[in-house]
Amino acid sequence: MPFFIIVIIAALIEYWYITLPAVFCLFIPSIILHFQKEHYFASEEFITRKKEISTLVAEHNDVAEYVQTIRNNESLKMAFSSTGEHAHLASSVNTSHHNYKRDRNIAHFGATNVHNCSLQIVRNASQNPIKYLIKYFGINTIEETLADIEKFGETISRLESAISNLNIRESSIAKTFAPPQFILEHFKEEFMQLVGVELSSLSVPYPVYAFEYVSAGGNSGQKTTVTLNTPTIDALIETLSEKIRFRKSTAGQRALMTAKFREFIKKRDNHTCKYCMVSLMDEPHLLLEVDHILPISKGGLSTEDNLQTLCWRCNRTKSNKVSHTSQEITTQNGVPLKSENKCTELKKSHGNVNNQKDNAVKDIAHTTQIKQSDKKRDFLPFAKKHLKLKEYNEAILWLNTTIENHEDLANAYYLRAFAFNKISDKNKALSDLRKAAECGNNKAIDILRKRTDSN
Ligand SMILES: [Zn+2]
Repeated sequence: MPFFIIVIIAALIEYWYITLPAVFCLFIPSIILHFQKEHYFASEEFITRKKEISTLVAEHNDVAEYVQTIRNNESLKMAFSSTGEHAHLASSVNTSHHNYKRDRNIAHFGATNVHNCSLQIVRNASQNPIKYLIKYFGINTIEETLADIEKFGETISRLESAISNLNIRESSIAKTFAPPQFILEHFKEEFMQLVGVELSSLSVPYPVYAFEYVSAGGNSGQKTTVTLNTPTIDALIETLSEKIRFRKSTAGQRALMTAKFREFIKKRDNHTCKYCMVSLMDEPHLLLEVDHILPISKGGLSTEDNLQTLCWRCNRTKSNKVSHTSQEITTQNGVPLKSENKCTELKKSHGNVNNQKDNAVKDIAHTTQIKQSDKKRDFLPFAKKHLKLKEYNEAILWLNTTIENHEDLANAYYLRAFAFNKISDKNKALSDLRKAAECGNNKAIDILRKRTDSN
């Protein structure tokens, strides 16, 4: 041990009556802060606020779980191959020792996202990243590649929006909770944990492509990297589409799925979910996504009429719906039938909703109901919203769901009769009117009576 350190230690011990209080004073502020924090977290105020904010927290955690699902289920690989496509099949050993710094031979040949090249190409790539990405990473200028990149771009953009939505929710939770400033300054993570916010360090897994030059001796090198974030992917999509000779069948029929186009669809739909009709106006932190009504995998195109805005809840349920049939859900859900009720029999005889869209809506509504079984969802308001907007077909879909769920049958049958009447389906309107009357709807009884009188 050096001599001067021994001297210092000896001095510290010798003058302990100065050293000890000094050390103590140094730690006093953090000790006080610690006790203040413990006191706050145990306080009635904290516990009450925590209860008040629990819905916000639960919703945040749901979104966090949703982000994980996207990350796990969607493909996040862009399989570009380049110089190193088969490099893993060979092994290479550097045997030079003279003035050796970097190993050019095994630099990054094994990675498909690194293109080993001349200094000139590295420089050019930094000027013209999209052109060089297409040229050197084997991106084929064909429709299939374009579709793959668009799909990948959608996943990346969904993750970007969902993660930024989570961040907004987190700061909103902190703001609404409004704990003392020192808590947010010094104990934010602990605070979030105690409030129940599942903080996971989520980030978007952007692929990074690199052009790398390493000189023969390994003494010098240069690198250009291209990160595939939404602006880069969009530029790639636009550049590719200019180069592709589209087949006649799809030429001009579809739009390019870029961030700009997704924003256009959301704006067209008034930032409102097409299934549950909840909008950004109702929920400022609502996460909205653009959905292919008929999925691309089933031949759906990225055309305006095949795209719709869905909230993350409905979109999640739509993608889950394949694993559940609505029959199973109704049983699992355990909604009690109104026994000895004529309406129940009516309901049973009326479970015939035919087209695909109907079933999707039904399933979504049902599964959503399971998810929210504690805060039971009422479908009638959605139906009424559509009626108000004179969207009678949509209203009928929601009324079907309402009737399936045995909610306020008299009113639902009456409203559906009204909607059927509006779209001139007189027979169905009359049949629903009779059911409404049988369930005791006075307006329906009145109308039917007047009809009989006038006949
Ligand atoms: Zn929705």
